[in-house]
Amino acid sequence: MEVVSDPAEFSFSVGTRLDGQYGRTGELRTPHGTIATPAFIPVGTKATVKSVLPETMREIGAQALLANAYHLYLQPGPDIVDEAGGLGRFMNWPGPTFTDSGGFQVMSLGVGFKKVIAMEAVDTPDDNAVAAGKERLAHVDDDGVTFRSHLDGSKHRFTPEVSMGIQHRLGADVMFAFDELTTLMNTRGYQERSLRRTHEWAQRCIDEHERLTVERGHRPYQALFAVIQGAQYEDLRRKACRELEDIRGRAGTGFDGYGIGGALEKHNLGTIVGWCSAELPEEKPRHLLGISEPEDLFVAVANGADTFDCVNPSRVARNAALYVDEGRFNINTARFRRDFTPIDETCDCYTCANYTRAYLHHLFKAKEMLAATLCTIHNERFTIRLVDRIRESIAGGYFEEFRREFMGRWQGRIKAPGL
Ligand SMILES: [Zn+2]
Repeated sequence: MEVVSDPAEFSFSVGTRLDGQYGRTGELRTPHGTIATPAFIPVGTKATVKSVLPETMREIGAQALLANAYHLYLQPGPDIVDEAGGLGRFMNWPGPTFTDSGGFQVMSLGVGFKKVIAMEAVDTPDDNAVAAGKERLAHVDDDGVTFRSHLDGSKHRFTPEVSMGIQHRLGADVMFAFDELTTLMNTRGYQERSLRRTHEWAQRCIDEHERLTVERGHRPYQALFAVIQGAQYEDLRRKACRELEDIRGRAGTGFDGYGIGGALEKHNLGTIVGWCSAELPEEKPRHLLGISEPEDLFVAVANGADTFDCVNPSRVARNAALYVDEGRFNINTARFRRDFTPIDETCDCYTCANYTRAYLHHLFKAKEMLAATLCTIHNERFTIRLVDRIRESIAGGYFEEFRREFMGRWQGRIKAPGL
């Protein structure tokens, strides 16, 4: 059946609001289905959540998946995904999909820093800082970024137009504007210059997005989110929000939503999200890029973030780290050799219904692939379910009670059996 691009297929509505805070429930409607927010969006970097079937991701309650434009650009290439009918069709995922702009991966190549949230502010900022043992693989200029592929060292260039072209061909329901990622290493002066650049790139993204939406009118409508940078500076974050809100394409298109990105420290995550929520239009969705730790989820939701994505639940699962309400533990340790109980008695996932800690321990020791599958199922379900419970607690008017109760257990005041 031929589909026709219709912007009305994408919308967001706010449900219950948290008293005196920016947190809220909502509904994000896309051409491929509706997402009840707050929602955790699992990451399938290369159009797969590593080691888990898309059908299983649906069974464990994933409402949408996020894939990575940089990785899919290098392999298999956006034309192949386009020919397949878009990202969802290609990977047999019928629900909503997101792609990030590729900016984060490309810029990370520039300095070798993997995780933005782990970055720490430094006493002596240095715009040329590179992580220890890393080589600078990307160079930013006012027009775009030139970088070398992490796969084969080949040279590539991303500009706002290139990123939009890639993301339109990937066909996700939600795309992100191409932005410059700065680090907490950068000087204030650099952050200001970078923000100007991100603003100019946002305008170019909207213009190109408008053009491609018309050119590819036979495809379902794709929404475009701006990305707010500005590091730890309140005035820069607020200014970025106001300026991005005002951007319009030649035909009057504005951004459909906003991503909060860039250099964040754990301790001021909530403050920064709160500044953005205070400035951004209330009727537009807000996505926080790259968080999944329970304490961060509560803080982000309370301060107004509607959706989040993070690769961590699956990444740490492959390293034998498992989440339960009482904290995170490693199934590799010897005390689980004869533990014939599930990871978590209270978890409703397939792994906990059918397998024991002793079996998972054995699979890791024997380096069996099934270890990754079973542990990823549990960790993704844990994170999705936690955000579902947070959403229910806002709707039910008991968010603060749930937060206190959960954080009391998470911080280890109550011990789980066998941990
Ligand atoms: Zn489980």
